[in-house]
Amino acid sequence: MKQIRFLYCDNGGIIRGKACSSQTLSERMHGGIGLTVAMQAMNSLDELMPVEGIGAVGEVRLVPDPRTFRILPYTPRAAVMLCDMMTLEGRPWEVCPRSFLRQQVEQAQSEFGQTIIAAFEPEWSLARRGLDGAYTAIDDSLCFSTIGMMTPAAMIDDLLGAMEAQNLKVELYHPELAHGQQEMSISPARALEAADNQILYRETVRSVAWNHGLIASFAPKPFLNQAGNGCHLHLSAWAGDRGDRNLFYDPADRFSLSEIGYYFIGGILEHLPALVALTCPSVNSYRRLQPQSWSSAFTCYGPDNREAGVRIASTLKGKESSSINLEIKASDNTNNPYLALGGIIAAGMDGVRRKLYPSDNLLLLVDPSSLSEEERQARGIKALPTSLGQAVDELEKDKVLMDALGPQLAKTYIAVKRSEEKSYSARTTDYELNQHFYKY
Ligand code: GLU
Ligand code: MG
Repeated sequence: MKQIRFLYCDNGGIIRGKACSSQTLSERMHGGIGLTVAMQAMNSLDELMPVEGIGAVGEVRLVPDPRTFRILPYTPRAAVMLCDMMTLEGRPWEVCPRSFLRQQVEQAQSEFGQTIIAAFEPEWSLARRGLDGAYTAIDDSLCFSTIGMMTPAAMIDDLLGAMEAQNLKVELYHPELAHGQQEMSISPARALEAADNQILYRETVRSVAWNHGLIASFAPKPFLNQAGNGCHLHLSAWAGDRGDRNLFYDPADRFSLSEIGYYFIGGILEHLPALVALTCPSVNSYRRLQPQSWSSAFTCYGPDNREAGVRIASTLKGKESSSINLEIKASDNTNNPYLALGGIIAAGMDGVRRKLYPSDNLLLLVDPSSLSEEERQARGIKALPTSLGQAVDELEKDKVLMDALGPQLAKTYIAVKRSEEKSYSARTTDYELNQHFYKY
């Protein structure tokens, strides 16, 4: 092995890292690799934001978690580990996103005895880049069509091998609705591992595509006239620290969901307008988050309702108790998975703590956009933010989420997001599309 990559995801949702050689690995395992604190105030355009206490002076360490070690099948002489950001004294840095998720996970465990199990469900687009820099989808196949399975078959075959080699268990694959769009889901895992897996997944898809001369993009809206790429988030809470009983299951309920499950919905829906600043956090996210896009645009819930902010997923026959879960539709792959999932857990726990049973008015068996504005208002159904700026306004007003993030992480995150909103609003739509296509 020649290099070991130490990776992290920043406040702009960009995966970054440094690498050491195998000869120096042992000393780096504890000491970590130095990182300027400024990186957490850097946006996705590499513009450095002025944030108090986070500038040219100061350093943290990228300390790898050995449990995340993988040899990279697409670059076999390289390996990867995912990192926490630690202070020079060896404590988790307050701006570290992975430590933020770990705190939420530990809180759910200590306060409610719950182990949170999650799965990210990424969609992505395969394209070729022309000499003029323009991206063209690899095919114009139809939803689930076998032509869509044929065109990227060699790449998908390699991808399945690369997933398997990294112990990322693939559950399902299909060509999705948009041209060149793919969906491959991997098995649920404990929350921290699920977020780690999402980083490994994004790296793997892009690398394998690259090795095939293709560009894989996780941008929420890569092509204006095509369906967007979501990354729906699936969640359940299990009893005890070994997580051996799904607390979301209640066979007596109309949708097989337990009271705790409903409280989670109540919490998530109450915080959803603010949560999207964490789950749909790029300027491009809001081109996807529109009514009638199966991405959700309103604070409502329903059984297998693909236009609702929270879908109660129907159970699998023979696996009823283990398969019941909540699916949060308002989530995409430009998020930092640690912040997105940590935020959702914080919102869900708020629901449990306050016993926020969601009103039946929020329960919809139809597309919420088929109701009139008056009907939605009467039911208390709110539209989700339609821009990153609006979402960040909501986040700033949300005490539960702001407290969970803590002042320093909240401050840097908001500075980065505000700056992205500002930078892109001064540029063209093409620029925005190209930047998101390439960077995510
Ligand atoms: N592509 C849709 C989205 O942006 C999701 C379609 C589906 O339900 O799988 O969320
Ligand atoms: Mg899909």
